[in-house]
Order: sequence, then structure tokens, then C-alpha cells
Amino acid sequence: MAKYVFVTGGVVSALGKGIAAASLGNLLTGRGLKVVLQKFDPYLNVDPGTMSPYQHGEVYVLDDGAECDLDLGHYERFTDVSLTQDNNLTAGKVYETILYNERKGKYLGRTVQTIPHVTDEIKRRIQLPAEKDRDLDVVITEIGGTVGDIESLPFLEAIRQLRLELPPEDTCSVHLTLVPYISTAGEIKTKPTQHSVAELRSIGIQADFLICRANQPIGDDARRKIALFCNLPPEFVFDGQDVDSIYQVPLNYHQQHMDELVCKRLDLDPPEEAELADWERMTRIILDPPDRVRIAIVGKYTELKDAYKSISESFVHAGIPNLVGVDLKWVDSESLEGREVGDRKLAEVFEGCHGVLVPGGFGDRGIQGKVNAIRYAREKRIPFLGLCLGLHCAMIDMARDLAGLEMANSAEFDPASPHKVIHLMEDQQYIEMMGGTMRLGAWPCVIKPDTLAHRCYGIDEVRERHRHRYEVNNAYRERLEAAGVVFSGTSPDGSLVEILELPSHPFFLAVQFHPELKSRPRRPHPLFRGFVRAAVDHREGSCGEAAEARGDA
Ligand code: GLN
Repeated sequence: MAKYVFVTGGVVSALGKGIAAASLGNLLTGRGLKVVLQKFDPYLNVDPGTMSPYQHGEVYVLDDGAECDLDLGHYERFTDVSLTQDNNLTAGKVYETILYNERKGKYLGRTVQTIPHVTDEIKRRIQLPAEKDRDLDVVITEIGGTVGDIESLPFLEAIRQLRLELPPEDTCSVHLTLVPYISTAGEIKTKPTQHSVAELRSIGIQADFLICRANQPIGDDARRKIALFCNLPPEFVFDGQDVDSIYQVPLNYHQQHMDELVCKRLDLDPPEEAELADWERMTRIILDPPDRVRIAIVGKYTELKDAYKSISESFVHAGIPNLVGVDLKWVDSESLEGREVGDRKLAEVFEGCHGVLVPGGFGDRGIQGKVNAIRYAREKRIPFLGLCLGLHCAMIDMARDLAGLEMANSAEFDPASPHKVIHLMEDQQYIEMMGGTMRLGAWPCVIKPDTLAHRCYGIDEVRERHRHRYEVNNAYRERLEAAGVVFSGTSPDGSLVEILELPSHPFFLAVQFHPELKSRPRRPHPLFRGFVRAAVDHREGSCGEAAEARGDA
């Protein structure tokens, strides 16, 4: 029988509940337990797929094609468990199911209500992973939003009921709160935490563990005070102070015996001792790398770093085996519009950058700026990695500049272009519904031998995660090949371009998929790893050139 951990948050949002849940998952997985994490979001969208990244950050995609909240990215990175569509639920999806059941006549004769129908569906979904996998030891369910929100009430009510129905040692509640530091008083304040725990209790849930988020250590006195007022032993109140790297969080929790206490509370006997030496070594490199490189990310949502969360994490991972820290320079692609190679501003923007990445995206805003950045990287021989839309922009740049197709474009940006080198995929032509209808999830890709892609991967076939409607137009493949482009990865039947590269360049690679979704701290993605390596080489090469120019020995 699986055990259930519920993670909720109070006082304010954005406390890092996802990282907290993922860190507990990391510790329990590390002790040999089979753990799955899931996120339940109280908003009414059926899934986050149609939401702008400005709303909740990036849309994270799973192997099975589910479009999810970005916290699932943290779960996968921290536990290295591949999740499924069962592990992300929204209130929208709950109501969709209930309304569908009602129309089908499943509740015939009865009034359909929040209790029991909505809460029953939530309880069913909480337990679904354990029903499907009898070997699961722990299901950690994070509830989005903040305790006290109207929208999260049915979710908390479902948890209350489940805690009542299951034996007490089968469930536990972990609550995150903010412990603010008031600078004028020179002290931290525990009252918001007391209120938040009381609010949770008024819904019928007594928190078993508290994680106090603060920008400094909370100290023993505050811990004792919080424990007393929140009805808990002091050692069940964890200090969740800010850390420099999210990868330190499991270490911090372990120091405070969280894994041990949670296991004891759930009457679990983990098969292994905690073994964190590896993770510790890794965090040390992340925190204090012997060297640094700088990569420019030319995108559209650069003010909101969460929009590119998996990309920035992939660079943290790729830095580890390369023994470098990767500094990211966020460049708004619109600011590069109208700036061609040779423009002083363009050179200034990329000054000191050892690589250029163009991420995925939708719509035509800032496209010319991305094309300009790619041409700059191509001509100045700066390592370049293009992801999804980044591949589309690379195709546009090279079709225009190397294959002489001046008006080349993507049908997404200019449906009237005479050379649509990127066009809508065949099976996307007649789609009317926007939600969940892109080419989604993991698909196989065959890698051509003796290419940069093959050198990075070291294997002949990979499975990568996708999220797109447009693709390379095969009618232009030959012309681009004649211009020097190599299509180094395709679908197994050869009909869909998955990877392209330019062998005349030190590292120029673009992919139709999202490698950032499969990078893990212990298994950095081979393309990011190779790209960062190329950035290190580029920096050394350019230092060499500069030294040569100066006449140094
Ligand atoms: N907008 C492009 C498409 O739909 C690229 C998508 C992406 O970058 N994820 O194909």
C-alpha cells in the first residue's frame, strides 16, 4: 500500500513548493523507495498548454505528450522518474470529467455537487498512480495556490476526507509558509505562519510538518515558538532558508532529518541509508565551478525567467561534466530587429558571449531579431543551438542566405511567402481545437553517423519530446543540402526533419524537439553538454586569437 504526502503552501505564493516537494521526493527516492510526484492546480484551464508563459512560466511536456505545469520539470529533474498525464491535474480537468459523466448519465437522478462528486474525483486522481502501480511506496501530491484561496477548497476538502478514510500512518501533510524578516524591527515574524497553519486546521487538516521559507536561518527560538503555536514538536519545523542553488535544498532538508522523520511518521522502513555524497559533490561544482562561460539566449519572454526554466536548468546540468558555470545573458529578440551582421549594436550584444541559443516560441513577434542573431553566430563562428522555433529560424536564415531564397519564411509568420521552408505539418492542417492538439511528446529520431549530432549522442536512435505544429518543408531539403546543410536527424521513416547542422561551422545545431525537457542533473543532456563544451572551446580559441593579435607568447 502506498503512502500519501500532501504538500500545501500558505501566506504567499511562489514559496517554491515545487522544489520542496521535489526535494523530499529526491530524498525518499535516494533511500530506495519508489516515489511519484504529482501537481494538482486549482485553476479552471483543462491543462496549461494554451496558457501564455507569462501566466505560469514554461509549459513542460512529458513523454506521453501531456502539457504540464513547470513543477513537473522539477519533479523529473530531482527524482529522475518519468511522469505521465496522471500526475498533473487541474480543476478544469476535474470539472471536464464530471460534466462528461453527468452528460453520459452516470449520476442519473442525483444532484451533481462539489461534495461528493468533485471531491471523489480528486480523491480518485490522488490514488490513481498507486492503483496503476502496486509497487509504489509514496505518492507526493502538491496542491497549487495558497491555503485560503476559494479555488483550492475542494482539493483541500478531498485531502481532509482521504486523511480520515485512510489509517493515520498512511498520510501526512507538509505545509510551506513564509517567515518574513522585518528590517525595521530587526527580527523575523512567526505570526503569518501561525495564521496559515490555523487556516489549514480550520479546513480540517493539521499540518504534520512545516517548512519555513525565510531569507535567513529561523533560529531555535522562532522554531520553538512556531512549533508551540502550530501544535507540533520543534523538530518537525524545518528551516527552509534561501539557498544559492535549488540543488542544495535536499541536502539542507536531510541535515534536518526530514527523510527520516517523514519515513517514521509514515511507518516506512526505507531499504537504503541516505547516500548524498554524489549529490553533494555535484552541488559543490554548481556553486563554485572552476571556470565560467557565457551563453546568450535570444528569446521573447526574457523578462520572465520561468518561461525558460528547463533551458536554464539544462545549462546548470551541462556545466557539471564540463566543470564550468554557465552565465546566461537574456537578449530580447525584438531589440535585434533591424540589426544585421556588421551593425555595431549587434556585435556589442554578443560581446563576451561564447554561445548563442534560440529557444522555442510561438507567433511572429521578434522573429527577424532571432534570424539576425543566428546569422551573426553563423558568420562569426560562435557555437549555436536552436530549439524548435530556433530550428525554424535557422532554416529561414540559411535558406535566405546560403540557398538564395530571399523571401524564404515559415508559414507561421508569413503564409504568403513564396518559399515556405517551414510549413504546417500534414496532420495539423484541419485542426480546429487549440488545446492538446500539437505534435506532442516523445518520438523517435534516427541520427546520421559521422555528424555533430552523432558525436554528441554517441548512439543511433534517440527519443525526444516535442511540442510543435510546423516542420521543415521537405521540398526544400535538397536545396539546403546543396548549400551545405546536413539533416542529421530524422523520424525513422525519414519524413520529418528532427536535427540540422552545418559541418563547416564549429558547432551549429538546431533541433525540432526540446532536449531541455530530458536533461537531469545526474544525466545532462548530450546536446547541451556538447554545446557547453563548444562554448568553452570557443572561449579558449577566441582568447588564443586575442592573445595572438596582442603578440603574447
Ligand atoms: N511555433 C512553432 C510551431 O508551432 C514552434 C513551436 C515551439 O518552439 N515549441 O511549430
